[in-house]
Amino acid sequence: MKDASRSAGEFRPATLCVHGSETGPGSPLTPPIVRSAIFRMDDAAYAARAAGHVDRSRCYTRETNPTLEAVEARLASLEGAERSLVFSSGQAALHALLMATLERGERVVAFRQIYGGTVDLAKLLLPRLGVDFERIDANDLAALERLCDERLRLVLCESLSNPLTLVADLPRVAALLARRAPRALLAVDATLASPVGQRPLALGAHLVYHSATKYLGGHSDLIGGVVSGSEERLRPVWLWRTKAGGCMDPDPAYLLDRGVRTLALRLAAQSQSALALARRLTEHRSVRRVHHCGLESHPHHELARELLRHTGGLFSFVVRGGDDEALRVIRRLHLFAEAASLGGVESLASRPRDLSQVGLSAEERALAGLEDGLIRLSVGIEDPADLEADLLQALG
Ligand code: PLP
Repeated sequence: MKDASRSAGEFRPATLCVHGSETGPGSPLTPPIVRSAIFRMDDAAYAARAAGHVDRSRCYTRETNPTLEAVEARLASLEGAERSLVFSSGQAALHALLMATLERGERVVAFRQIYGGTVDLAKLLLPRLGVDFERIDANDLAALERLCDERLRLVLCESLSNPLTLVADLPRVAALLARRAPRALLAVDATLASPVGQRPLALGAHLVYHSATKYLGGHSDLIGGVVSGSEERLRPVWLWRTKAGGCMDPDPAYLLDRGVRTLALRLAAQSQSALALARRLTEHRSVRRVHHCGLESHPHHELARELLRHTGGLFSFVVRGGDDEALRVIRRLHLFAEAASLGGVESLASRPRDLSQVGLSAEERALAGLEDGLIRLSVGIEDPADLEADLLQALG
């Protein structure tokens, strides 16, 4: 942005994707990759560190680096946050967020319908910290209220869930916490909706995190994570990033910054194609059910209309014939690669039980609403007519 006096709040997401990183006269329009682990020191740098500004002073790339700062500025303006911090992965971002937030004896509540890796990390880490981990169904405010007390410190949910596309009722969850558990923080995994689809901080969330590997990067060529929030809340997150060493490297930070610039365009195309394919699948005789919050039949359709600017490129559907038939359909696809992850420019298909929800027991899968025969699609930016033809031939 040429005129630094103009605030990011004046602009819409597609503009911030391109202009969210400040540059002055003579500076490169495209933030360069600064592949240096260390920076020259002088008295002013030592004084800044002595005054406690270690997180802003350039000394060592594990603390900060100009390439990281450039993408962090762009992401913070997109998210409407005071500050963003990038990490070596989405899991590293979540790890730092948990370590920075929790104390022994506290409680975390998570929506049941979240990414399996989040559950795995919580199950590994929280018992060692002496922190309770409870799960409730998405938007079950009565269950959440029963768990509201002075021990409740963190509520974890996904703004848009994978693979059922449930929409978190962030304003109502945030209002309940403010009323019944004011110490509790609402942390939202916004990977699927992306900041172009929704800004959770404006809806009452205290912290937002992403797997930047997905839509933010957008090309399946980097692993990264990001946490955003206020300066005050991000300060201990920075400390954990630095001390545990989960920072992003300058090379993926450059790729991430490049990816974010086309985020709004990609998301618009992917959302439109995914909804068109979902509608088409509802008419197919081999398909028992389609989970896409853009469909009027979805239980969270109204919430999606109220809270999301777009519904994203991911959805799932259930084929007749169970899990074996689901695998046969996936293997007959030509354009949809059978692969993990989501949010890239290429279309992907998988069975959630094999990949994103692999850690869940059969009982946990049933509780989370993941039926046999479920196929998850991440729709890319190919021509939607080609994708439709591919799906129809695979379904037979
Ligand atoms: N959150 C969601 C919704 C995810 O799908 C994933 C990964 O698939 C993660 C977090 C973890 O991110 P990463 O794989 O970048 O560590």
